[in-house]
Amino acid sequence: MQSSLASLILTAATLWPLVAASLDAQQPLGVSSTSPPVAASHSPDAPSWRDDLLTLHRSLVEIPSISYTEGRVAHFLQDYLTQRDYTVWLQPVPQRNNTPGPDEPRFNVLAWKSASPHPSASIVLSSHIDVVPPHIPYGIEPGPITRETRIKGRGSVDAKASVAAQIQALENLLASGHVGRDDVLLLFVVGEEDSGDGMRAFSGFLDAMDPRPQFDAVIFGEPTENKLACGHKGGLFCGLTARGVAGHSGYPWLGKSANGLMINALAKILNTDLGSDDLFGNTTVNVGILDGGVAANVIAENSFAKLAIRVAIGPQDDGGKIVWDRVLAILNEVDPEAFTLTCSHDYGVVKTNCDVDGFEVAVMNYGTDIPNLKGSHTRYLYGPGSILVAHGDNENLTVADLETAVEGFQKLILHALSN
Ligand SMILES: [Zn+2]
Repeated sequence: MQSSLASLILTAATLWPLVAASLDAQQPLGVSSTSPPVAASHSPDAPSWRDDLLTLHRSLVEIPSISYTEGRVAHFLQDYLTQRDYTVWLQPVPQRNNTPGPDEPRFNVLAWKSASPHPSASIVLSSHIDVVPPHIPYGIEPGPITRETRIKGRGSVDAKASVAAQIQALENLLASGHVGRDDVLLLFVVGEEDSGDGMRAFSGFLDAMDPRPQFDAVIFGEPTENKLACGHKGGLFCGLTARGVAGHSGYPWLGKSANGLMINALAKILNTDLGSDDLFGNTTVNVGILDGGVAANVIAENSFAKLAIRVAIGPQDDGGKIVWDRVLAILNEVDPEAFTLTCSHDYGVVKTNCDVDGFEVAVMNYGTDIPNLKGSHTRYLYGPGSILVAHGDNENLTVADLETAVEGFQKLILHALSN
């Protein structure tokens, strides 16, 4: 619905004076956009754009951007893309309440190649610019760069590899004339690793438009090992408390052990099929935190657990609630009065389009920003690197991973445009 999108920024200007201001103020903001080139020599099979890709990737990884501190990397992208003839808009996203440390401004980055002051793209290329802690410096294997050369550092995979590959893919397609300047919108959001507040802010911004802009397709960049995802599991995130009665450990019948109740309940939860599906497998439960009681010789009065449940059933809106009800039924069976279950958010499996020729397909066990962007657009999930190293201290990928992703994103953009 391009006509309504065309009014996006104009309407935004009435909503948020900062929007108009940021459109005028597209000067570099003190962050260097040009790290030194990553290598002087390349293998003969190197694509002509390898230096551009690796230099951009390096610059992104070198800037620390743990969730809620993404201001510098957003300004870097503003600078980088403005220099390449994009129109760039920084969407302010509020700081989290009670954030310790400096009150750093943070922004989603939107960019489109056309000189028009408003985007009219039908396809969105999106990923996130925040990373998990701690910051890990950029590193690259010494010597001539080949497709096997390894690059490491925080965000080198999740998700600055996707950000760099998406920008390079779009640049390649614009240079070859396969996409028009108005076809694709770049959207790089903050806060994905923690609360998803960046994508929700963008979605809320669209909600405020009348009529609400509608994209044809959104391509989400996350580590999928360059496989095209058919979807990912849902989630249910809860705190569980058990309340008992304290007493002398030698006379357990005089009290009621909250720890005993908790152990029985968790064992049942872990051993029950909470929901399974041919494509998404089993719902799995991680008891991430467990705490209770005050001393070995005292019957525990209180017990506490924190659970992250990966939901394998749908639908997207209600799958999490179905699992929530099943957990409540188990707690009720163990003790109808002792437990309180408080869940912060829940959703069922998220399905994405994997019906594109030329890709290996897979299903992911992690969550993404996909459910945070409302709308009826076709959704794709794809990106370089493995989730298995993404949040670890050895986060890394190869040059081949990055270069393959550029080609993969190009294929997906062309596929989305042709539909
Ligand atoms: Zn990610």
